[in-house]
Amino acid sequence: MVDVHLVSVTKRFGRTIAVDHVDLDVEDGEFMVLLGPSGCGKTTTLRLIAGLEKPDEGRILFGSRDVTTLAPRERNVSMVFQSYAVWPHMKVFDNIAFPLRIKKYPEEEIRRRVKWAAELLQIEELLNRYPAQLSGGQRQRVAVARAIVVEPEVLLMDEPLSNLDALLRVKMRSELKKLQRRIGVTTIYVTHDQVEAMTMGDRIAVMNKGKIMQVGTPNEVYNKPANMFVAGFIGSPQMNFIEARVVEKEQGLVLDADGFEIPVPGWAVELVKQLRGSRVTVGIRPEHIYPEDIASTVRTGLHSVEGRVDFVELLGSDTIVHLDVRGRILVVKVSDSRPYRVGQRLRVYLDLNKLHVFRETGEAVF
Ligand code: ATP
Repeated sequence: MVDVHLVSVTKRFGRTIAVDHVDLDVEDGEFMVLLGPSGCGKTTTLRLIAGLEKPDEGRILFGSRDVTTLAPRERNVSMVFQSYAVWPHMKVFDNIAFPLRIKKYPEEEIRRRVKWAAELLQIEELLNRYPAQLSGGQRQRVAVARAIVVEPEVLLMDEPLSNLDALLRVKMRSELKKLQRRIGVTTIYVTHDQVEAMTMGDRIAVMNKGKIMQVGTPNEVYNKPANMFVAGFIGSPQMNFIEARVVEKEQGLVLDADGFEIPVPGWAVELVKQLRGSRVTVGIRPEHIYPEDIASTVRTGLHSVEGRVDFVELLGSDTIVHLDVRGRILVVKVSDSRPYRVGQRLRVYLDLNKLHVFRETGEAVF
């Protein structure tokens, strides 16, 4: 196993900067997720690590070994693609054995390793079948078995679950994560699915427009987003953003959004003071705005607002309520099963301890 370092890596395609001075350190045995919207450069970053693309600038290191100019087969990496990429004319056994045969392993060693990988992926029963006789999920297991059979130093996966149906995706999510834990291989996993990223990653690198916006544990990117991009990308429904101005009033510092005033909680006063007079964006997640019954259990650090229910989405366990507060829509996620009616007046409570404030540049103050 090995740690992986990207040092100011840049890749251009013509005038497009697909990867823009990316620095990334992946620890030995870590499960790192690259998360971001379509076209943000995730796949290109993965292909650069695999050696399928050459960077225009920067260096890639496996441990202390500089692999920047090495061909893929000289790097000891394996890659799993979204499109399985198993060979239709080969039985499962031969698909898995293929990379070992290329490396001219003795036949006995090949049998031993294929058995090991097939057991880990629970596909021992399928070794004599052709890919056409497999389900999508089974084919993806074959692709993963083929990737780990060489015991790579680094395992790269590019949206490996996105061709599977929703239920199977959830199942494979935990299985892949357990498999990675078990074999301890340093893994870099590309997805645009934040749930996948949050549930699988030891850490997540959130990307946008070729740049890394933040690297952190799932907990950190959710609770301490470094900027508005990360705050808006992680979490569903999306964080509420309210444009405001920092104003000193008699009662203290407030975030004034045209008559909709949010007091600055005591712990944040020092941080916000320096921004007096300037424009900021206030962020609060839908799950941190509570209806009356939840609010009564929290009690401190709440700020109540009243509005009119504009729209209701029932999600089974949760209800998403769009609340019109003086012309501004606040999205509220409630987990009670009370029916909410469009048009009804509703009082909700903002949890000031969960508030975020962003500068005009989008960078988080907290
Ligand atoms: P997706 O989730 O849609 O796969 P991504 O985040 O993986 O997106 P990349 O595939 O890395 O993004 O693409 C980053 C940018 O580089 C995009 O603007 C894309 O159009 C461009 N790009 C990628 N590969 C090439 C290529 N071979 N030739 C030209 N442009 C490319």
